[in-house]
Parts: sequence; C-alpha cells; structure tokens
Amino acid sequence: MDVARNGTPALDRAAGLLARAERIVVFTGAGVSTDSGIPDFRSPGGIWSRYDPRQLGFRRYVSDPDARRLAWRLRRELHHLGARPNPAHLACTRLAAAGRLAGVITQNVDGLHGDAGLPPELVCELHGTGREVVCLGCGDRGPMAAAVARAEAGEEDPACLGCGGILKAATVSFGQNVPAEVWARAEALTAACDAFVAVGSSLVVLPAAGLPRRASRLGIPLVIVNREPTPLDHLADAVLRGEAGTLLPALADAALAGPGARS
Ligand code: NAD
Repeated sequence: MDVARNGTPALDRAAGLLARAERIVVFTGAGVSTDSGIPDFRSPGGIWSRYDPRQLGFRRYVSDPDARRLAWRLRRELHHLGARPNPAHLACTRLAAAGRLAGVITQNVDGLHGDAGLPPELVCELHGTGREVVCLGCGDRGPMAAAVARAEAGEEDPACLGCGGILKAATVSFGQNVPAEVWARAEALTAACDAFVAVGSSLVVLPAAGLPRRASRLGIPLVIVNREPTPLDHLADAVLRGEAGTLLPALADAALAGPGARS
C-alpha cells in the first residue's frame, strides 16, 4: 500500500464508512483476479500487451475466422491457468456470511467469486461467464471445458455441434450489450446499497463504470481500491491505492468489527 500518498487516513475513512454499512455492494474488476494469476487487460504484461483488442471485439469475431482462432488461443491459455480465489474474493464471501453484503457486481468472467463460496444470488456477472460457451446461431449453451478440449484436439474454431453455428465464450465482448435483465439487476443493487466499493477496476469500461458514478450521484458512500488512479477517484469518499488482496480483507475486517472499532 502507498502509505505516503494514500495511507492510514484513507483506510480509516473507508473503514469507518463500511463499519456503518449494512448493504454493501462490492464492484470488482480484473484487478481482483490478478493475484489468482489471471492477467488483467491494461496492466503491463496484461492481455492487451499480447493480444490486439481490435481483434477480440464481437464484430470481428463473427466476421473473421482468424479472429476466432486467436480468441480460442486466448481461451485455452486462460483455461489452463487453474486459477483459485484469493483473499480479495474471500473477503467478499466473509461479508456475505455476516449478512453485510448486498451483492458483488463483477466485470470478471472467471467465476472466482462463486468458487470462493458466494451464492449465485449474490453475484451479478455483468460481462457473463467464460466457464460456458454459447452458440451465436441457436443459443445453445455448454461447458467451456468441452469446447477447449475440442480446440486442443485440432478444431481451431470449434462450431456448435447442434446447428454448426459459431461458438463463443458466454461473455459480453466489446461491441456486445450487457443483457437488459443483468443491467437492471446491477442498477437496482447499486440504488439500494448503503456503501459501494469498487475494487481492481480501471473504471473506464462502459457501461460498467456508470455504476460507481450512479452510486456517487445518489449520495451513497463510494470507496475506490486500485493500484493506479482511476478517472472516478475525484468522486470517491475514500481512495485506497494498493493491492486488492491486502486492502479488501482489511476493509472487510473493519466492516465486520463494526462502528467505533477504527477512527
Ligand atoms: P482493467 O484491466 O481495465 O483494469 C484493471 C485495474 O486493476 C487496473 O487499473 C490495474 O491497475 C488494477 N489492478 C491490477 N491488479 C491489481 C491488484 N492486485 N490490486 C489492485 N489493483 C489491481 O480491468 P477492468 O476494469 O475489469 O475492465 C476491463 C474488462 O476486463 C472487463 O470487462 C472484464 O470483463 C475484463 N477482464 C476480465 C478478466 C477476468 O475475468 N479475470 C481478466 C481480464 C479482463
């Protein structure tokens, strides 16, 4: 943690806000899973440093078999990381177990909040899941593991076994919309919470980054935890610059200790 710039005072302020909160929303981005070994998009060494984002958008995926082959290469790479939840995921689960978590709204598609023990009704996956594939023709869904196994057996761009349509990870790629019901759920969670904590997100991807903005407009205490500055830092009641795997557990401890435990 950067104590000199954003040290104890910001942590105390955030802790005080969360200690009083009963319906906390934790909004997570790729930075929550980097400690689990999954690269984010924008950090040095992140996915964008090795894959051209323009090649991974939805339109390109549909129209260009080369783009699909590239996307399957990335899928295979991610599938074999064998990622496990880290202390940031477990901190969310602890808040839930204590009845203080309204929900996690995640931009991540890695399923690690569920692996950490959060029940599906407390996880809103804004960008879908990389654990499943969907056929863009007939809408049939199936496990990602089976599609990856086919890709590894030599089908560089495995097609739907039912209708021959294009198979794609069941994620929301650039150029696709967040499903209306998922967005409505995320907005409702945001509007009803009494503290909103954004963790490990560059807060530049829309519409997701509209949620912390909305929380701030509604007067809901906003805490931002990230390694780097974000464009929404000026809206936050507390900005903690540092590691999600350290700071989120510290915030959960403070929230669970209750008012008066800090500050
Ligand atoms: P992003 O790559 O734009 O930003 C990640 C942010 O997290 C960066 O600002 C970085 O400084 C910070 N960060 C990285 N590791 C951190 C750590 N250990 N502690 C604290 N901060 C850390 O990611 P985003 O904001 O989530 O948005 C981009 C898109 O990335 C999302 O749509 C998401 O679907 C997709 N994505 C998901 C995964 C995943 O599921 N794990 C991985 C890569 C990308």
